[in-house]
Amino acid sequence: MPIYESSPPEIDFLSSPSGCAFKFDGKIFLFLPKILGLFSVEGQNENAEMELLEKSNFIGDFLHSVEKLFQLDASKKIEKYWQNQNGKISALNLNLTDKCNLACIYCYAKGGNYDRINKELSAEDALKAFNSAIDCRDESRDFRVEFFGGEPLLNFEAIKQVIEKQKQLATHLNEKEIINRISTNLTEINPEIIDLFSKSKMIISVSFDGTAEFQNRQRPFKDGSGSHEKIFSNLKLLREKCPDNIIVARITVLHQEDKLYEVIEQISQTEIFDYVSLYPAALSAQHSTEIENKPQGNFSETLNNEFLKISQNYKKLLSGKRFKGILELNRFCQNILTGTAAANHCRAGAGYFTFSPDESIHPCHRLVGDPNWDLKAFSTLAGQSRNRLRDWRLPVNARAGCRECLIRFFCGGGCKQEAFITSGSLLGHSTQICSFSRLLFKSAIRICLQLDEVVEKKLVEFFRMSEKLFVFCGQPLIKLERKEEFENPISIRFEDQVFYLKPVKIDFSND
Ligand code: SF4
Ligand code: SF4
Repeated sequence: MPIYESSPPEIDFLSSPSGCAFKFDGKIFLFLPKILGLFSVEGQNENAEMELLEKSNFIGDFLHSVEKLFQLDASKKIEKYWQNQNGKISALNLNLTDKCNLACIYCYAKGGNYDRINKELSAEDALKAFNSAIDCRDESRDFRVEFFGGEPLLNFEAIKQVIEKQKQLATHLNEKEIINRISTNLTEINPEIIDLFSKSKMIISVSFDGTAEFQNRQRPFKDGSGSHEKIFSNLKLLREKCPDNIIVARITVLHQEDKLYEVIEQISQTEIFDYVSLYPAALSAQHSTEIENKPQGNFSETLNNEFLKISQNYKKLLSGKRFKGILELNRFCQNILTGTAAANHCRAGAGYFTFSPDESIHPCHRLVGDPNWDLKAFSTLAGQSRNRLRDWRLPVNARAGCRECLIRFFCGGGCKQEAFITSGSLLGHSTQICSFSRLLFKSAIRICLQLDEVVEKKLVEFFRMSEKLFVFCGQPLIKLERKEEFENPISIRFEDQVFYLKPVKIDFSND
């Protein structure tokens, strides 16, 4: 079983249950999921040892011996994390309106109303929901409010009142913060909105597919006209008036497969955006056939190549003043470089809940209005852990299909809503999510192995902010304490040869 060969910088992996080995730029590397550890392998007599590793049939045994050197185990930490969860609320998504003025072709909200919601949330009800959620909040962490819709700025009054209420609470939060984020198409702004964004330090996630070509094709106005010009001019104004707010371009990947690098490059050069958030369109099989004319979940070789370009050119993309990368890719780099494991894919049903105008409460914002998932009242959520919320809170290592997956502590088992629409079960698999996670993993490995000052500095900025940015819908993270174990190269004797494993890592303090 030779180590899988490929010419750099493409990477192919030879996997075993303990991890994987691969060659990159002529050197051998190992990755061990149990500690999210990436190591270069060096020998005393390099050529001889490398030959041994490559020619022998025991790379699986070698990986297993390396794995045994470490006491740490992400699975155990994750188990403990879930035993200690109190079921309290740490993130409230307010679904503010059924209305939207865009007609994005892949919209899972069916144009804003999910085919189920038929009114907006009154400011009074938004405040009531906020107060009830705050009463059940997890006091050990910051609380966050997500303003969502439809297009939430079409119900600005409710946003205004919730933010106003937060000012009165500030002194009761014991130094914890309230973090506000909005998911908007930014077609409608005015001086009052800009002022509120600035004063509330709102994180602004703008649905923006990059270039005019894709934005106008994938996110047109309801009358069919293009939205790019208007949104881009609003973005410029917003950046000018709010220099300190974080602005994220939320790109849905659909038809840009052969131009993704170009799209990200253009976005990075605007000096408007801090980050891009990138995700494949969540489509049911029927919807996928309608708009894509190809089977669901099949990524093209082209998209792989675009990710290759992105990871090879990350330094170039991050070399401007502002742009700090792709959130999902940065998170995978964080996992590797700092030893941070995903305790689940997201926080849906485990601290994160959505309140809608029909007064329903849902574990995921894509299920709003669905009576089958209505949890009814915030005050009862903590007690539901053993029944209705059980599968939402089930960690990745408890899922049969994921238990031995190399990237389980990155992906956390994938988006449960997507698993549900593709397989009928929250614990099923969406092949699209698995493929996307693998793309992210490979790309993150490439970035980590080509780190330089520019990328490292921007990544560290991201690591510090990462929890606030709500990556993967608030993915819960666990930091492995691997500092001592990673202090120096580790030596291991195997088949009478000595190998040195040098960890690839970034040490940073979160203060
Ligand atoms: S969802 Fe797929 S990629 Fe994610 S851990 Fe499970 S098997 Fe692996
Ligand atoms: S990741 Fe998926 S399941 Fe989780 S909150 Fe987001 S859409 Fe819902």
